[in-house]
Amino acid sequence: MDGGGSALTLAAPIDHVVIVGGGTAGWMTAAATAHVLANGRRRITLVESDDIGTIGVGEATIPPIRAFNARIGVDEAGFVAATGATFKLGIEFRGWGDRDGRYLHPFGDPGHDFSGVPFHQVWLKHRHRPDVGPLQRYWMSAVAADDARFDRPRADPSLPISQLNYAYHFDAGLYAAHLRRVAEAGGIRRVEGRVAAVDQHGENGHVTYLRLADGRLIDGDLFIDCSGFRSLLLGGTMAVPFQDWSHWLPCDRAVTVPSARRDPLLPVTRSTARTAGWQWRIPLQHRTGNGLVYSSAHLDEDAAAGMLMAGLDGPALGDPRPLSFRTGRRARFWHRNVVAIGLSAGFLEPLESTSIHLVQSGIQKLLALFPDRGFAPVEVDEYNRLMTAQFDAVRDFVILHYKANGRVGEPFWDALRTMAVPDSLASRINLFREKGRLFRYDDDLFSVASWVAVLTGQGIWPRGHDPLVDSLDDQRVLAALAGLADAYSRTAAAMPAHDRFVDYLRASAP
Ligand code: FAD
Repeated sequence: MDGGGSALTLAAPIDHVVIVGGGTAGWMTAAATAHVLANGRRRITLVESDDIGTIGVGEATIPPIRAFNARIGVDEAGFVAATGATFKLGIEFRGWGDRDGRYLHPFGDPGHDFSGVPFHQVWLKHRHRPDVGPLQRYWMSAVAADDARFDRPRADPSLPISQLNYAYHFDAGLYAAHLRRVAEAGGIRRVEGRVAAVDQHGENGHVTYLRLADGRLIDGDLFIDCSGFRSLLLGGTMAVPFQDWSHWLPCDRAVTVPSARRDPLLPVTRSTARTAGWQWRIPLQHRTGNGLVYSSAHLDEDAAAGMLMAGLDGPALGDPRPLSFRTGRRARFWHRNVVAIGLSAGFLEPLESTSIHLVQSGIQKLLALFPDRGFAPVEVDEYNRLMTAQFDAVRDFVILHYKANGRVGEPFWDALRTMAVPDSLASRINLFREKGRLFRYDDDLFSVASWVAVLTGQGIWPRGHDPLVDSLDDQRVLAALAGLADAYSRTAAAMPAHDRFVDYLRASAP
């Protein structure tokens, strides 16, 4: 019997968690930790500076956000009403492959497999037939998106609508305010003030307390750095190096502006490739969010602002606002008693709306490995391993969009099309080019279907298909494809228009 004795060796529990920063990352962390940790024994304090403010962008998300909201008890109707949210069924890419082309990267999966043969393989074999057509015909979220319709998925797997998957567009400031209400109701203490200095314990190098500009001291056992690009504690105090990815992801600036809402209310984020970057369009209830992400080595700020304004589809509701950033990540995310979550940990640019997800993922892993004051190295290492793998997997998927561009003759795009990519991405593209084969590895956030949508959407085609498809009965397969396309299109036609669904949900908010 050795199990009983080990408890005696455990270090003292964490009594006080301090979160530095009140942007989306800070308030998501506060709401989630309040839900799990706040009780009579543990204190949680969030420090934020009104003078410094937040980055104020981050409006498009991916489906796991729904599980996050549900876990912290956020009701969907109340959330949609409070944050100006709309529904998102995927991303429409314009001009990334052919200059005049478009494709959709929808959420969820297309069709179903055929006796174990992946759907996309069946489609690859028959796609040239006029009666088969694009992959998105067989993808519930894509068919609904093209019709600007929305409904919630149903659980019954025999119904096509069970294959719908969705996320949200929302106003980042309103979302942070919504989460603040949840966190404060859960017992989080908010302190307004600027952290001016950080004190470290000499012996083990742990952060012991923060000194605010007005002289107040905030001590703690665990410090969560949500200070944004400043990375005050992890990059600053702990001096954990930054791994720069700008040779793969060279965009380093954005200019943003809201414009008037334009109907129909589309349930997709739009990303339009431009001369030296790309422009996003995010439909909200009360406005449309727009931004141009670009490389400052290829475009100056005035030209970028002009390009953004010329690409709006409604009157601008303000002046263009510039932002700078650097793509990459910290070499470690957790060091001693500091864990970085959000932009302080790294940034991949917003092309696939993954930043808020990486915040959520960081929170979940921190809670799964929540330490005591011993900060067991084996647990810290595991957190770093998991987050590194997650960042790197997302990195490869984002780089794919640039690598696979078809914009020949534009210096920015030519350089990206011919660049050397990470080996992990190069081997995935090479495998796909052979017979269309793709696998979802443990750390992947994106599914095989997502990879197929982007690869083929941007003109990367395999030399052949999986030979197993040839053992299927072609006539049966074609009849099944026709049946699927028909079922998806009838299901979409029966859904409410997206704007009506949003109105209905708002009206039913508590
Ligand atoms: P911030 O919002 O910068 O918050 C930092 C906080 O730290 C603030 O409260 C600040 O006051 C505080 N702080 C800093 N220093 C101090 C100090 N010394 N003392 C006290 N407080 C301090 N993500 C998506 O998921 N989807 C998107 O569509 C998307 N679009 C984006 C577009 C662009 C151009 C950029 C740059 C980012 C985008 N992101 C997107 C990322 C998203 O904005 C961030 O991941 C998210 O907002 C989290 O930011 P944050 O909370 O880490 O940082």
